[in-house]
Amino acid sequence: MKNEKLLYIHIPFCDSKCHYCAFNSYTNLNHLKKEYFNAIKTQIENDINKSIQFKTLFIGGGTPSTMKIDFYEKLMKLLEYNLKDAIELTIECNPNVTIEWLKEIKNLGFNRISFGVQSFDEEKLKFLNRNHSPIQAINSIENAQKVGFENINLDLIYSTSLDNNKLLENDLKTTFSLPITHISAYSLMIEENTKWEGDFSKRKENEELEIWFINKIKEKFNQYEISNFGKPCIHNLGYWKLNEYIGIGAGAVGFKKMENGEWKMENEELRKQISNKQSINLLSFRYYTQNDVYEYLKNPCKYKYEMLTDEDIKKEKIFLGLRSIIGFEENILNNKEKTRVKHLIKENKLYKKENRIYSLDFLLADAITSYILD
Ligand code: SF4
Repeated sequence: MKNEKLLYIHIPFCDSKCHYCAFNSYTNLNHLKKEYFNAIKTQIENDINKSIQFKTLFIGGGTPSTMKIDFYEKLMKLLEYNLKDAIELTIECNPNVTIEWLKEIKNLGFNRISFGVQSFDEEKLKFLNRNHSPIQAINSIENAQKVGFENINLDLIYSTSLDNNKLLENDLKTTFSLPITHISAYSLMIEENTKWEGDFSKRKENEELEIWFINKIKEKFNQYEISNFGKPCIHNLGYWKLNEYIGIGAGAVGFKKMENGEWKMENEELRKQISNKQSINLLSFRYYTQNDVYEYLKNPCKYKYEMLTDEDIKKEKIFLGLRSIIGFEENILNNKEKTRVKHLIKENKLYKKENRIYSLDFLLADAITSYILD
């Protein structure tokens, strides 16, 4: 069978907490880093047997660059056999990272690096509570190229209350001058459990400005998903294609499908529990480790489950397919749904190629999915 499995490892530590951030990340737990390695080692040994081969590895956070190189040396050693055939190894980092760290990370085999830049505007960075400067971001991206990274991503945030054409144009001018291959551009969301929870004054509602910004990016980088442009990230494409993944670390998520009528899982406990739930006609599920770092350290192999029915999976296939270049197979639809799709093709919202349905405007994915499934 073709190897399509993905591995995600979560690093929950950050130098400072950004005001908009709802990720599972902490600034006051640095003293737990050593124990954290031991916990992820336990989870890896429990969930990943030597024979599993991953197509991609993605280390995200939090801020993975807050961990010293010896952490990654030990981690890569632990996963040596499982990453033999991996084609993409990504690590996220903060722009305050040093060239020495970048060089050593490259030497460990990482071939894709992602920088949480967000903006090159000093005032906007302070407003977001980022702890790096524009010049640090420029230098670190150039350093990544110097040490040999050929796949470099840069994250940008838009729709903040400070944004206007001039600020965003300046951000893009600097962005386009750098040796990057990929841009992730996210519209600011005001989320619960963040410093900005409930304060919608921090967000600018200006659809015209958003469309203008996205179109500017599209002039230079091909849009392949609603927020992603450039050379596609194979790991993220794998999520959207609903490939299986294993999630390691506090608050990480795994996704497992039944293979030939059987649950083939390393984790004995997980397999037992899932097998007991067969009565609901379950063909796939997601499982979550504990978010709380202290709880995770106590028991890294304790999971919560989210059962997915065929209908759930079908909805995800349509939604994720329409947000991206992936599209979805027409034959997952019933006759009524096919009629609605035909109508949308006539309306120039969708198109069909070799029995797959694709979107002509990723921004409409939500509305179109609801319409198709009624
Ligand atoms: S660096 Fe990233 S993970 Fe850390 S607080 Fe900021 S947005 Fe959240």
